[in-house]
Amino acid sequence: MDQFPVFLKLQGQPCLVVGGGDVGLRKARLLHKAGARLTIVSPELSAAMREFVLQQGLVHVAACYESSQLQGMRLVFAATDDADVNRRVFEDCEARGILVNAVDQPAICRFITPSIVDRSPVIIAASTGGAVPVLARHLRARLETLVPASYGDLARIAGEFRAEVKEKLPDTTARRLFWDALLSGPFAERAMNGQADAARALVREAIAAADAQSLTRGEVFLVGAGPGDPDLLTFRALRLMQMADVVLYDNLVSDAVLDLVRRDADRLYVGKKRADHAVPQEDLNLTLVRLAREGKKVLRLKGGDPFIFGRGGEEIETLAEHGIPFQVVPGITSAAGASCYAGIPLTHRDYAQGVTFVTGHRREGEDTLDWARLTNPHETLVVYMGIMQAPRIAQELMAHGRRADTPVAVVEKATTPQQRVHTGTLATLGELIAGAGIKPPALVIIGDVVKLHDKLAWYRNNAP
Ligand code: SAH
Repeated sequence: MDQFPVFLKLQGQPCLVVGGGDVGLRKARLLHKAGARLTIVSPELSAAMREFVLQQGLVHVAACYESSQLQGMRLVFAATDDADVNRRVFEDCEARGILVNAVDQPAICRFITPSIVDRSPVIIAASTGGAVPVLARHLRARLETLVPASYGDLARIAGEFRAEVKEKLPDTTARRLFWDALLSGPFAERAMNGQADAARALVREAIAAADAQSLTRGEVFLVGAGPGDPDLLTFRALRLMQMADVVLYDNLVSDAVLDLVRRDADRLYVGKKRADHAVPQEDLNLTLVRLAREGKKVLRLKGGDPFIFGRGGEEIETLAEHGIPFQVVPGITSAAGASCYAGIPLTHRDYAQGVTFVTGHRREGEDTLDWARLTNPHETLVVYMGIMQAPRIAQELMAHGRRADTPVAVVEKATTPQQRVHTGTLATLGELIAGAGIKPPALVIIGDVVKLHDKLAWYRNNAP
């Protein structure tokens, strides 16, 4: 972080703009908006600046810059077209500890002015540290479209109730959860649609009903995090991720997804560390119970969908046994992600009328897959956790009658920037995996639909 962002309260504070042209005027307008007590120093003023000074009754010192004019100033803009004067202003301010900005001369600025989106009282400021000001403007344009113009109304109305809510809910966590719930409900829409009174009524209702104990009740969110690309999260997943006090995650959850969890949440890694074993499932289930009992909002993030080869069922069974409230949020399973990002439709009128998901993982070596049922040439087979067992799976399928030249694809790290797609046939699957140095997580897709991968090659350009 090259700069430290702050918002300054300048109401009634003496501030100075050195320069009477249009550049100075832009800064003067901003300072005036923020309530500063403004002085303009310049032997002459542009027509627009003169009008502004007169209209707003600002102090104009019609003279050249001198350091004595800095007396008592909190913040100064050097906005003359003379680089030497600007530098003198900068040096004099530095010597006196006054915040100073020489417009468009980043080398002699103690602070910089960000691009701003003004939804007062909400203000969003963006900076690229002076590296690419145009980028900050782009970002600002995007934010302008993202944050409705009436966002300020929302903040103002909510702000009216701040003290009242604080009194009713002295506990900070309870308060945060109260506002979270209120802001994601109909209150926000009313407030932003100009129905201020209806919005106020909703807040009063919510305050009357607020109960600290039930707000801070522990709860578990079992959330599908999708296959990796954060764009594939559901809105609900994101909302719960923002509410969590603690998150339990494993290898399948990508960093990009983890970055979206509430920043203050504690992070507990419960996956495998290299050759080590993961936290045993029973311990994990009980950890969820313990944390919820402490009154925490516990986020259990799972790769893909929690109920597809995710042992999510076992986790909520334990919660139910212990009477812990929970929610389950579906995620995009990796087969769906891999299929779309690799251009391999899992079903297709000409190639496959069905699809089966199986796991290649064997519990204590026992084989429970019904091979004879997996050999239909008109169905796609997707194998999760199948990389280690792939050669054996291919052998079994061929032995039970699936064609040796059945196309197969191995999709590695699907939907992430590291996604790789390898194709071959059932007969060559083992060599393919060994040869390409494929690492988990990866899925094996078996069936004629894989032929479409080349045909739909343009898809690859769509991958992240
Ligand atoms: N619940 C998860 C699956 C958990 S089992 C889901 O719905 O996707 C773990 C297996 O999922 C891995 O061995 C791998 O086969 C597959 N998998 C998960 N994420 C993947 C990804 N990004 N790319 C390829 N395969 C993935």
